[in-house]
Amino acid sequence: MKHKSDTPQPFDATIVPRFAQVGTFMRCPLRTSAAGIDIAMAGVPWDAGTPNRTGSRHGPAQIREMSRLLRRYNFATRVSPFDDCAIADLGDAPINPFDVLATLASVQRFFAEICSASALPLAVGGDHLITLPVLRTVGRQRPVGLIHFDAHADTMDTLFGQRYHSGSPLRRAVEEGVLDPARAVSIGLRGTQFSADDTAFNRAHGMTVVTIEDFFEAGPKAVAGRAREVVGEGPVYVTFDVDVLDPVYAPGTGGLEPGGPSMRDCQVMLRALDGLDIVGADVNEVSPPLDTSGLTALHACNIIFELLCIMASALRARRSA
Ligand code: MN
Ligand code: MN
Repeated sequence: MKHKSDTPQPFDATIVPRFAQVGTFMRCPLRTSAAGIDIAMAGVPWDAGTPNRTGSRHGPAQIREMSRLLRRYNFATRVSPFDDCAIADLGDAPINPFDVLATLASVQRFFAEICSASALPLAVGGDHLITLPVLRTVGRQRPVGLIHFDAHADTMDTLFGQRYHSGSPLRRAVEEGVLDPARAVSIGLRGTQFSADDTAFNRAHGMTVVTIEDFFEAGPKAVAGRAREVVGEGPVYVTFDVDVLDPVYAPGTGGLEPGGPSMRDCQVMLRALDGLDIVGADVNEVSPPLDTSGLTALHACNIIFELLCIMASALRARRSA
């Protein structure tokens, strides 16, 4: 872990006001390489995998802008991920809005470079398909465990005859052997389904599902505990679809499902994941055209902050081991 004095830092908001300077994720330095970086945040401005309400291609830009509101210390834990981790904004992964296969390949190459520089990736979507190329990268050596926050299972097969869309990333990741289904847990599933059982694939492959009924029965701390049991000690990836939040908190997303957890519930769950061996994460499905107020993006920024905190903690544990 680098010493604080030579670690790249976000702008100091007591010196450079938060409305000033060019917007980057968490006001961190913009870098073109992940060399020397511990956690690399990067946008994936892609939404051509979205079957209905699009717009998440604009997510990274609005999330960068709204992240000006964040400060450096976690009030609940009194820890700052920036104190001892080099965290940077790597810009956006290259995408082609008309070509899904080319985009999956170029996004995968982009994150492979980040991983080969030994930085942990934190991807910002974009629709949920962007998780697949990141999982292909972090799960290349051995399949990773997964904690998946979402109103939907994302284990559909084809949609309009297409295999790659925002409802299929986890199914493809299991099929490709980059995600260990026995160490995967999906939290927050609810709403209406396409079929009588949209989670048949999950059950057939031993993936754990915590429905919204289970969630409200057990509470956020117990659900986080259950997630920890499922993923165990090995490497784990965290993916957060903002539609897991009740639409009151995240109206700016494609697949609105009423009756979800609060922002507070999600903060409590993420903090309770501290200590896991997190190897990467993403936040996805923020669609700014559907919420010009920026509230959804603001919530996404605060989720990203919690993810940075537990990723920094994982780095500390790995380096002192
Ligand atoms: Mn999703
Ligand atoms: Mn969803």
